[in-house]
Amino acid sequence: MVSVINKYLETELAEAKKDLEGLRTYPDSDFACIVKELGFKCELCARCCTKEFNDHVFLLDSDAAVIKEIDPAALEPAPYYEFCDQKGRFYVSGYALKTKADGSCIFLENKRCKIYGKRPSICRVYPYMLHKEADETGNVDWRQISGLNEHGSYHSELDDSECEAVVRETKAYEKAYLLQLIDFFKAVQAHFEKNGLKHVQRTYDKRIREFRKGEVEIEVFVYYGGRFEKHTLHSGEA
Ligand code: SF4
Repeated sequence: MVSVINKYLETELAEAKKDLEGLRTYPDSDFACIVKELGFKCELCARCCTKEFNDHVFLLDSDAAVIKEIDPAALEPAPYYEFCDQKGRFYVSGYALKTKADGSCIFLENKRCKIYGKRPSICRVYPYMLHKEADETGNVDWRQISGLNEHGSYHSELDDSECEAVVRETKAYEKAYLLQLIDFFKAVQAHFEKNGLKHVQRTYDKRIREFRKGEVEIEVFVYYGGRFEKHTLHSGEA
C-alpha cells in the first residue's frame, strides 16, 4: 500500500504519463505549421549554450553515456532534484552538463561547440520543444519554441520536409525525456517502498537552505542506466 506522503510520487508519475499521452496525440500537422510560420534560423550567437539563457543542459541516458566517454568530469547531477527522503538524500532523474565560471557550457569554446558531432539530444533539437509549461501568468499550455525573439532570426522559408524533420526529432526527444522520467519515478517508488523511505518536502527545503549557506554536504542519487549513482556535493558544486 502507498503511504499518504508517497502519494506525491504517485501524482508526479501520473502527471508524466498524462504528458506522454498528450505528446502522442498532439497533431504533427499543428506543430509543423508553427515551425513553418516561425521560420527560425540559428545565427550562431551561442547564447543558448550559456546558463544565463538556458538554465541547464539536461542529458538523456544515451547522451550521458556519450559524455562519460568524452569526459566524465563534465557531468553533474541535474539541478532541481525531484525528491528528498526523510534522511535528507536527494534523487534526480538524470545528469546535466557542467558550466564554466562565466556560465557557458563546459564544451563551448570561441562560440563554437567542441563536441558538435556528439552534442547531446537537447542541443540538437533546441530551440524547438513540445511540452506543457506555465507562462509568466501561470497559464499551462503547450510550448513549441524556447527563447522566442531572443535569439536567431525568424520568417525564413523552410520547406515542408525540414519542418517535418523538426517535428519528428523534437517529439522523439520529448518522448525519450518523459520515458526516462517515468522510469525514474518508478525506480524511486520501488526504492522508497523497499527501504521504508518517503519524500519529505520540509527536509528537502531545509537541506537546500543549509547547502546554499555552505553548512552541509549533500548526497544526490542520479538515475542513470536503470540504477542510482551516488554523488556527494559540497557547496559551490551545484
Ligand atoms: S554541448 Fe555544445 S551545443 Fe550543447 S550547450 Fe554545450 S557547447 Fe552548446
